[in-house]
Amino acid sequence: MTPKGGKSADPENFSLCRLLRDIRRAGRERPEESALRREARLGRLIEHARSRSPYYRERYAALPREVRELRSLPPVTKRGLMENFDAWSTDRAVTWETAAAFVADPSRIGHLYLDRYVAFSTSGTTGTPAVLPHDRRAMSVYLALLLWRRLPTLVSAGAAVPFLSNRARTATIIATGGHFASSVVDARVRSVHPRLYGRNRTFSLMTPLPELVRALNGYRPAVVGSYPTALAVLAGEQAAGRLRIAPALVLSGAERLSPPLAERIASSFRCPVRDTYAASEFMGIAFDCRHGRLHVNADWVILEPVDAAGEPAAPGEASHTTLLTNLANFVSPLIRYDLGDSVTALPGPCPCGSPLPGIRPEGRRDEILRIEGPDGTTRPLLPLVLATVVEETPGVLKYQVVQAGPRRLRLRLEEAPGYVRAPVCAEVLRRLRAYLSSQGVDPASLELSEERPRGDSAGGKMRQFLVERNGP
Ligand SMILES: [Zn+2]
Repeated sequence: MTPKGGKSADPENFSLCRLLRDIRRAGRERPEESALRREARLGRLIEHARSRSPYYRERYAALPREVRELRSLPPVTKRGLMENFDAWSTDRAVTWETAAAFVADPSRIGHLYLDRYVAFSTSGTTGTPAVLPHDRRAMSVYLALLLWRRLPTLVSAGAAVPFLSNRARTATIIATGGHFASSVVDARVRSVHPRLYGRNRTFSLMTPLPELVRALNGYRPAVVGSYPTALAVLAGEQAAGRLRIAPALVLSGAERLSPPLAERIASSFRCPVRDTYAASEFMGIAFDCRHGRLHVNADWVILEPVDAAGEPAAPGEASHTTLLTNLANFVSPLIRYDLGDSVTALPGPCPCGSPLPGIRPEGRRDEILRIEGPDGTTRPLLPLVLATVVEETPGVLKYQVVQAGPRRLRLRLEEAPGYVRAPVCAEVLRRLRAYLSSQGVDPASLELSEERPRGDSAGGKMRQFLVERNGP
């Protein structure tokens, strides 16, 4: 298939109207019907990858001709794909040389790579910087999912009237300056649908906080969209009375949103907070429902939570990592791609009635701290649980839990304005130590650091859980 002319040899037509009808149907059908739809898409993707991508052709060489069973395929990693970037693609014009040059040029954010692909770069917190090209139909699928499954939450959240009375102004607060997915999509929508986008304004997280607060006060947004760590800071500003906005809805994405943080943001802004599980590999992997459960858009993306041996993780248990298969993107196919996230598949139906599977993202695999217990065995500490313990404590503005050795954890903390540091730190330490004891870890493993939480150089984001091994 040549994406160039806009026509595709694929039997599926990817016009937006058709996609919307298809997504509506998929949201109503029985599990057997969804499975058939998914299998047909998977079959086409595998076939395409085998015939057009030298990388997949070689990896699948020993497999029988007709493979439809996902589990019989070997997983791929970010490093493996980046090292074989040219051979990975199904389009011979896609090369690491041109892709790397494209994402290195900030003036081309929002432009099309090779005039036909959207390319996202990741800042490489896991050590491997990556470029992920997406074709036109993948972008259409992401847009259709957003329109059909995310936008109606405005109405269901009871936010439509305040939304319109605030003149439908949307504030997107993101890290700017790189070809990160959020920046690229923002710039794309702005250039392709200027009228649709007329009421959105983008604010950079690199702006000093007092200036950002002033700008938001002047703009009075009806919807605020950002990362949870940034929303936490803004919720603190709102609670302190410096930020004075009345959004009808807050949208959180790109990072893990813990339940206490969601509650704190909702009570500061007095409006619903909705969560999206998204990645540079697939824009809207899962959207939350009104019962707070994230539902995977399983008609277009397959998630396999697996244990350390690559076997399926049991429902209800946090996985070691998660394999992602993107059924929409044919240019640089992701088939059983190791996403590096720990995810728990939630068993049982959701009260909202959605047939789409429920998940709980626990955090990045490399954020899972592993502490040695007194008996010498290591215990994993899940980011979402640690985040919940810390964030339930009043007065926390920013924090980092750093693993400094096999039995050593350090807490860096910055208290919220109006709070006294010592009692906030003491309370967080007390709660974390109680949690450690419950996990069979010596509570003395945790100490308070006098340092404040520090941001990454890449993208300005701050990791809340990290390993810095420089001691015993
Ligand atoms: Zn639900």
